[in-house]
Order: sequence, then C-alpha cells, then structure tokens
Amino acid sequence: MNVIVTGGAGLVGSHLCDSLLADGHSVLAIDNFITGRAINIAHLRDNPAFTLIEADIIDAPIDFGDVDQIYHLASPASPIGYMNNPIDTHLVNSVGTKRMLDLARERGARFLFSSTSEIYGNPEVHPQPESYFGNVNPVGPRSCYDESKRFGESITIEYVRQYDLDARIVRLFNIYGPRNDPEDGRVVPAFISYALRGEPLPVYGDGLQTRSLCYIADLIAGMRATMDTAGIAGEIINLGNPDERTIHELGTVIADICGSDAGFTHLPMRQDDPERRCPDITKAVELLGWSASTPLRAGLEETIRYFAEAEGVASA
Ligand code: UDP
Repeated sequence: MNVIVTGGAGLVGSHLCDSLLADGHSVLAIDNFITGRAINIAHLRDNPAFTLIEADIIDAPIDFGDVDQIYHLASPASPIGYMNNPIDTHLVNSVGTKRMLDLARERGARFLFSSTSEIYGNPEVHPQPESYFGNVNPVGPRSCYDESKRFGESITIEYVRQYDLDARIVRLFNIYGPRNDPEDGRVVPAFISYALRGEPLPVYGDGLQTRSLCYIADLIAGMRATMDTAGIAGEIINLGNPDERTIHELGTVIADICGSDAGFTHLPMRQDDPERRCPDITKAVELLGWSASTPLRAGLEETIRYFAEAEGVASA
C-alpha cells in the first residue's frame, strides 16, 4: 500500500514509518522540521520504499501521488514545542487537517487523525473514557494545542458524517521511547538527561501530579490496528498505558536505572498542568484487542540506552 505519514520525522511518525516499511508498504513522510528531527529518519534515507518531503502541509505545493492510507500526525506535541509555535500548531491541526481530509476524500484513502489526551484538559473524570467531554481552558497556554486538536477531531467527524469518509481518531496518552527529543522538555527525556548527568531532577510543583506513560512500540501497534481495522469509521479510541504514576515515582525509577542519587529540585507548577491523567482503554481492548504490554521499567531502560548511545548524553 501507499501510505502518507504527516509528521514523519517526529517520535511517533518515525517509528510508524519503520513499522510500515518493515511490512512492505511504500511510505511518503512529510515534515517541516519545526519539531521533527532529521536524526529520527536518517537510517531510512537510502530505502527505496521511503520518500521524505520537507514541506509544510498547511500550504506547500506537494505531489502526494497515489494514496491508500493517511496517518495525520503533524503537529508540535510537547508543551514547549507547541507553546513556542502556537499559531503553527493551530494551523496544522485545523487548515492542515482539512487539507489531509480533502486529499483522503479525493483519493478514496483511509484516514487516521492523531489526537491527544490533552483534549480532556485537567480532567474531572478519572480515568478518562472517550465519552468524557473534558475540562479545557480555551485561552490558556495549552489552548493552541488542546483546542486545535479538538477542532481537528470535530472536522474529521464531520467528514465521516457528511462524506462517508473512512476516518478514525486516536487519542494518545504520554508516549515515550527511543527518539524522544532531549530538548523538548517532556518529562521522560528531561529526567533522563538530568539523571545521566547526575544532576537533580527538576519537578514542577510537588510531583504528585500523575501521568500514564505508554512505550512507543505499544503505541505503534495500537495505531496500526486502528487504521487496519475495517468498519470503525467515526470511532475515537484512547491509546495509552493505564499504569498511572506520580511524577515523583517516575523520577525515582529513572534515577534508579541511571544510578543517580542527586534527588529532586522543585520548581513552580506550570499553568493549567493537568493534575492527573490515565486512559480508560476498554474501547481499544474491545474493538482492537489491543493493550499496552511493555512494563514502565523495561521501556525506560530501552529509552535510557538510546540516550546514552544515539544522543550521546554522557553517563554520570
Ligand atoms: N514535568 C516535570 N519536570 C520536567 C518536565 C515535566 O516535573 O522537566 C512534569 C509536568 O509538570 C507534567 C508532567 O511532568 O506534570 C508531564 O509533562 P510533559 O511536559 O512531559 O507533558 P504533558 O503531559 O504535561 O503534556
């Protein structure tokens, strides 16, 4: 099949390209490298089944060729990534999503929109099922991401309703793994970088806020199952690992693997930082037979090995 991956040089996009290519598909990856990184796809450069287009999907002229499936992932996704690029984030998830939907419609392709647990905001329902409408600040520092993803979901569903497009939506919950960007400020790469240098881990607030971390390989399996399952147009599916941890607990595991005993430094809590987050994945289990299987410690060990080797972060 011919598959388009927008945001193909990101953490998720690059692993998705690897997985599709390994199964014999042709992949057209599109990335404008605002937050995507060349290092993530450098190993694919000479693969004849892989094409990279460096362009902005919002408005660049692009020859898309024949298309069977479109994975629309393009968007800054870390708080630092989208807060540094708020207008681009709004536009890629709105104008960019419309363009990809039109392409899918024109070519008769199947479409997957990559959404986020951020659409639940600071949730008042816990864990979060897909039926929860969320608690989002519409004008806060995260709103460029939260609200544009909500728009992206809404227009995707309208293309299903109005045009019968074979589209589905996944909501991703805190993904981590090899190729996490050490500069994007996310908690896993940040903590690993500090721990490998033997420095105290910077914690925003008291560290009692929670996240549920899903290893990249598990996520890719869930995304591909969502795309490849027939008869689920219009479905919205949480993809994440319900193993909920406090940020303190997460830091303790990372410091332990890295052999660091430098402890924590506490910084002021960030505005609108969700206090807890955990996916209800009942729907993914029932519809796809999917659940995350990589234990946190095993996934972190793989990620830390990558940081020590590929990113050249020196060990303490
Ligand atoms: N966090 C932290 N120190 C860091 C980075 C993040 O304490 O260096 C906390 C952050 O306040 C949040 C959680 O870790 O509560 C996850 O943050 P991240 O930026 O990874 O993603 P988010 O889930 O907030 O989008």
